[in-house]
Amino acid sequence: MLDQLLTKAENSGNLGLEEIEQLLNLENQSDIDRLLACAYRVKTRYVGRTAWFRGIIEFSNICAKDCYYCGIRRSNSKMQRFTIPEKDIVESAVWAWKADYGSVVLQSGERSDPEYINMVERLLKEIKKRTNGELGITLSLGEQSEETYRRWFDTGAHRYLLRIETSNKELYAKLHPRDHSFENRVDCLHRLRKVGYQVGTGVMIGLPMQTARHLAEDLMFFKSLDIDMIGMGPYIYHSDTPLASYRAEWEIPHKTLLNLGLKMIALARILMRDINIAATTALQALEHDGREQGLLAGANVIMPNATDTQYRENYQLYENKPCTDENATMCRGCLQRRIEGIGEQIGFGKWGDSPHFASRTNKAIV
Ligand code: SAH
Ligand code: SF4
Repeated sequence: MLDQLLTKAENSGNLGLEEIEQLLNLENQSDIDRLLACAYRVKTRYVGRTAWFRGIIEFSNICAKDCYYCGIRRSNSKMQRFTIPEKDIVESAVWAWKADYGSVVLQSGERSDPEYINMVERLLKEIKKRTNGELGITLSLGEQSEETYRRWFDTGAHRYLLRIETSNKELYAKLHPRDHSFENRVDCLHRLRKVGYQVGTGVMIGLPMQTARHLAEDLMFFKSLDIDMIGMGPYIYHSDTPLASYRAEWEIPHKTLLNLGLKMIALARILMRDINIAATTALQALEHDGREQGLLAGANVIMPNATDTQYRENYQLYENKPCTDENATMCRGCLQRRIEGIGEQIGFGKWGDSPHFASRTNKAIV
């Protein structure tokens, strides 16, 4: 039974909702390992065994939104707020360029006031200038108007990550206050594509009230949007948030949650063969080599932290975020050793664009 399903998964990648759900529900470790190995073969065939690096710079924890799961939500008054001075953000980006990372991700809490929009534009200009236009820039700055997305695109950003968080409207409504609109988030994904970005989305895995069926539908949602990149990871509780009250009833043991995250990565690779998939830091929060396990389950992107260490402590979206006291150079060294240790190579010095984007737009990969 499993044999047949895995053969179909590997050969065609065309799985139905129920088949996906069935694979997500695998519990036996040797069965799970077979699914992950199947996805790794698909990955090797379609995108090779190169892990692309994006240095992530988490430059501000000021956020206008109030998502119930997130440690830096507006209403968390215990959080000390910061925005890194512009020149230091630029320095981090230049550091990543010199370290041959090829590209960076700029991420922050969500703001859409004109000062913020202008600041991001200035940052993009300056980073492009200081790195001879060589450093690729991905943004992860939440929901914005089409005009804002366009301005940032025209200034040099070329990829954008906006997780849908869950593709189930009812579940979305339970995780957010009333004025956070699911429809607007979906619209934003369309806007980004229209403007010309490589578009990435994703979900949190293991949320309270979330079922295997929801996760299977999430994967179908990504496929139906013809998405270029996926960044998804385990949901991890943060005590100073409303969702923490679900902990007693819904918290999933670390090993089970890690496996669920890996199964999601594997199925994403099987269903959407040539996209970029990130092994996110939240995997590493569960097990020290969680991200390498992500690569072996089908992911091909890693996002090492390139934020100046002094600012990391207060960018706690969830508890026990790893590497907060390691400097960026140490992160680079330890990651390189670990990745080479699993027989993969690091794609230094290139943007590592989504092959899927290249094929849907007939553009050469940079
Ligand atoms: N404000 C932007 C980008 C920063 S948040 C945005 O929301 O898009 C980046 C991601 O962190 C979110 O998309 C969410 O999926 C994730 N996140 C927030 N709280 C989390 C938690 N408790 N556990 C795991 N991931 C979390
Ligand atoms: Fe703000 Fe993003 Fe956290 Fe929501 S997930 S509260 S938008 S930083």
